[in-house]
Amino acid sequence: MIDFAYTENQLAVRDMAREVAAKHIIPNIQKFDQEQKMNPALLPAMAESNLLGFCIPEQYGGLGMDYISLGLASEEMEYGDTSARVILSVHIGLYSLPILTWANEQLKQKYLTPAAKGEKIGTFGLTEPAAGSDVVGLQSTAVDQGDHYLLNGEKMWISLADVADYFLVFAWSDLEKKKARDHSGISAFIVEKAFDGVTTGSLHGKLGVRAGNTGYISFQDVKVPKENLVYKEGEGFKIAMFCLDQGRYTVAAGSCGLIKACRDASVKYSKERQTFGKLIEEHQLVKQMIANMEAGYQYSTMLWMKAGWLKNQGMRSTRETSLAKWVACREAEASAANAVQVHGAYGFSDEYPVERFYRNSKGASIYEGTREIHTLMQADYVLGHRVDKEIEHDLPVVEQ
Ligand SMILES: Cc1cc2nc3c(=O)[nH]c(=O)nc-3n(C[C@H](O)[C@H](O)[C@H](O)COP(=O)(O)OP(=O)(O)OC[C@H]3O[C@@H](n4cnc5c(N)ncnc54)[C@H](O)[C@@H]3O)c2cc1C
Repeated sequence: MIDFAYTENQLAVRDMAREVAAKHIIPNIQKFDQEQKMNPALLPAMAESNLLGFCIPEQYGGLGMDYISLGLASEEMEYGDTSARVILSVHIGLYSLPILTWANEQLKQKYLTPAAKGEKIGTFGLTEPAAGSDVVGLQSTAVDQGDHYLLNGEKMWISLADVADYFLVFAWSDLEKKKARDHSGISAFIVEKAFDGVTTGSLHGKLGVRAGNTGYISFQDVKVPKENLVYKEGEGFKIAMFCLDQGRYTVAAGSCGLIKACRDASVKYSKERQTFGKLIEEHQLVKQMIANMEAGYQYSTMLWMKAGWLKNQGMRSTRETSLAKWVACREAEASAANAVQVHGAYGFSDEYPVERFYRNSKGASIYEGTREIHTLMQADYVLGHRVDKEIEHDLPVVEQ
C-alpha cells in the first residue's frame, strides 16, 4: 500500500516547526546572519516546543514521533534558515538517534534523556583538520588506561562545537589498526564539554550557515570514563556510518525547505518586477526557472519520504538516504542559483533573502558526504561494487 497522506501527529510536528520558524527564525535571521552568530533565543524556543527530542521515545524524554515527522520538521526549519535545520541534524540525527540505537541503558539515561528534553545539547565529532571524507585518516586516539581512555586529538568543522554540552566522538582505540588503516580500530565515545582537557572554539568567515555555530574541539589528555564507550570497542566506524544515515536524511528533507524558500521568494518577486512592459512572471525563461524549482522540490520530497518510510519500518536505508541527500542538495543549489537569477541585481544584495539562500545552499554538498562521495556511492550500488549488509543494531520501528 502506498499512502502519501500525513498523519495528524506528523502534521502537528510540521506545524510546530513552522510556528517556531515563523516566530523565532524568519523575523530576525538577516541580523544574526550578518552578525555571524546564533540567535540565543532559538535553542530555548526549540526546547520549549519539544523540537529537540520529538522523535525520541517518551521513556527517554521525547514525544515518540516518527521519521516522516523528522523530515517535515527539518524542511520547516530550513525554510527559516539552514542553520536552524543544522541543529536538528546534529542534535537529533547525529547524536540522539545513534545513542538511542547503540548505547546501553545507563548511557541513554545519562546522555539521551537530558538531550531529548532540550536541557543539554549534543553534537557529532568525526571530521578532523586532515580527515573529512577519508574517515580512516583521522588521527585522534583513545588509549585504554585501565579505568579510563586517554583521549587526544582535534575535531574540526563541528556544528554546534561551541554550544553543545555532549560530543559523540570517534577516535582510534587500537593503534596497530590505525597504522594499518583498518577501520575496525575506531571506537565511539560520549565526551562531556565539562571534562578536563576539552576546549572548543568557533570558526568565523564562513560562506554560509552564518547564523549557526561551527567550530573545533580539542582534546588534550582527556580522561574519558570506560563506561562512556558507546557499544563496543572497534565499532566506531559502523556507528559513525549509522549516524550519517540519520543526519543525511535531515539534510535531504531540509534541502526541500530551502528549495521551497527559493521558489516562494521567486514567485513573489516575479509578481512585482516588470520588464519590457510586463511582469517578469510572464517571461517564459523566468517560468522555466520557477518550474525547475517546483520539480526539484517534488522529486526530492519523494526521495526523502521513501527513506523515511524505510526508517519507520526499522529497515536500513543507507542507499535511499544517500540518493535523497545527493539529489535534494543538488536541487537546492540549483534552485538558489536560479532564485538569485530571477531577482537580477537585487538577488545579488542582502536586501532580499535569496542571497543568503545561495550562500547556504553550498554547504550541504560538502557536509554529511560530499557530492562526489554520494555520486560514487550511487554508482557503486548500481555497478554491484557496494552492497549493504544488515547491521546488528537498527532503528526501533515507530508507529506513525
Ligand atoms: C558547515 C559545515 C558543518 C559541518 N559539521 C560537521 C559536524 O557537525 N561534524 C563533523 O564531524 N563534520 C562536520 N563537517 C565536516 C564535513 O563533514 C566535511 O567537510 C566533509 O566530510 C568533507 O571533508 P573535507 O572538508 O575534509 O573534504 P575532503 O574530504 O578533503 O575532500 C576535498 C574534495 O575532494 C573530493 N574527494 C575526496 N575524496 C574523494 C574521492 N574518493 N573521490 C572523489 N572525490 C573525492 C571531495 O568530494 C571534495 O570535493 C561540517 C562541514 C561544514 C562545511
